[in-house]
Amino acid sequence: FPSKLPHVGTTIFTVMSALATEHKAVNLGQGFPDFECAPELVNAVTAAMQAGHNQYPPMPGIPALREAVAHKIQALHGRAYNPNTEITITAGATQAIITAILAIVHPGDEVIVLDPCYDSYVPNIELAGGKAVRVPLTPGTFRPDFAKISAAITPRTRAILINSPHNPSATIWTAEEMRQLEDLLAPTDILLISDEVYEHMVFDGAEHQSAARFPGLAARAFIVSSFGKTFHVTGWKVGTVAAPAALTAEFRKVHQFNVFTVNTPMQHGLAAYLQDPTPYLQLPAFYQAKRDLFREGLAGSRFKLLPSTGSYFQCVDISAISDLNEADFCQWLTREVGVAAIPLSAFYGDGFDQRVVRFCFAKKDETLRAALERLRKL
Ligand code: PMP
Ligand code: GLN
Repeated sequence: FPSKLPHVGTTIFTVMSALATEHKAVNLGQGFPDFECAPELVNAVTAAMQAGHNQYPPMPGIPALREAVAHKIQALHGRAYNPNTEITITAGATQAIITAILAIVHPGDEVIVLDPCYDSYVPNIELAGGKAVRVPLTPGTFRPDFAKISAAITPRTRAILINSPHNPSATIWTAEEMRQLEDLLAPTDILLISDEVYEHMVFDGAEHQSAARFPGLAARAFIVSSFGKTFHVTGWKVGTVAAPAALTAEFRKVHQFNVFTVNTPMQHGLAAYLQDPTPYLQLPAFYQAKRDLFREGLAGSRFKLLPSTGSYFQCVDISAISDLNEADFCQWLTREVGVAAIPLSAFYGDGFDQRVVRFCFAKKDETLRAALERLRKL
C-alpha cells in the first residue's frame, strides 16, 4: 500500500544511538541524561503504585497533577490556567504536539515551521493532511526572521510552530521576539504551538519567555512541556499542554482517541514531586555547570563553539577539523574517534549543511570528560 510518509526513515537519534552502541562511543548524540533522576521522584511513583493507583486515571490527567502544573505556570509566568479545562497531561511532548496538530489542521491547511526544527513536526503535519511551510531561521544566528515569517503567511495558514529554548541550535527567544510574533499574529486567526520542553534550561541569568507571558500569544497557543526533560526521566514519557478552554476541548477530543489517558502512577509521583519548586528552579545552574565544563574542555580545540543559551545542547562548527559534510562527520566521529554527535542538517527540510554538529551535555561529568579527552585530540 502507498506509504503515508514516503520520505521518512528511522530518526537520526535512533540511528546515531545505535551506531554509538555498536562502536562503544561516548553518546553525546541523542538528547537524554545518562544519570539518574531524584530518588524522591522514584519513591513517589513507587508509593503511588503501592497505594493502588494502577488503573485508568481521568482522561485529561489526574486533578492533582493538572493543579500542580497550573500553579507552576501561574507562579513562573503570571497566567492562570484552569486545571479542569485548560491543562491536559500527555504521553510526552511528542504526543502533545501531534495531538494538537491533528486537532487543528484540516487537509490542505498550512503550518509554518522554522528550520532547523525538531524532526517530528513536519511528519505530524503531513499525517494530518496539512502542508508544512518551512521558513529558515537566520543562518548563523538562528534568530527568527519576521519578514520571512510574514511572507510565508497565506489564507491557508492554520498555525505556526515555535520552539524555545531551541533544539538543535541552543538559542532562546527574547521577550522582544515574542512580542514581535504577538504583533504579527494579532490581525490573524493563526494558532500557535509553542514547544517549550527545555523551559527550565536557560543560562547566564536569562529568563524563559513562555508564550504564557504574552496575552496575544497565550490566547491562541498550545504550550507544550515535558517532565522527561525537566526531571531527567525521558523514558517516562509524560508531558503537558496548556491551552485556552476552547482549544483544550478540541485537543481532548483527539487525545481521548489516540492515547485516552497517560499512565497513572507516574502522574501521582510527579504531582507529589512538583509540590517543591526547588528541583526545577535549580535546573539552570545544574545544566549551566555542565555546559561550562563542556565548553571549557573544547576551548582551544579546533571545534568552534557556537553560543549555548538554553536547552542541553552545544553546537560546534567543524570546518577547521574536516572537509566532510555534517552527516559523514558524525559517522566518522562515532566510528573513529568514539564520540557520537548529531548533524544539524537532519533538522532541515533541504538538508542544509553549515558544517555544524550538535552535542548533548546532559551527561555525567565523567562522561563529558571522557568525550572531551577524545575530542581535544582533533
Ligand atoms: N520537542 C523537542 C524540541 C524535543 O527536543 C523533544 C525531545 N526529544 C520533544 C519535543 C519530545 O519530548 P518527549 O520526550 O517528552 O516526547
Ligand atoms: N529530543 C531528543 C533529541 O533531540 C531525542 C528524542 C528522540 O530520540 N526522538 O536528541
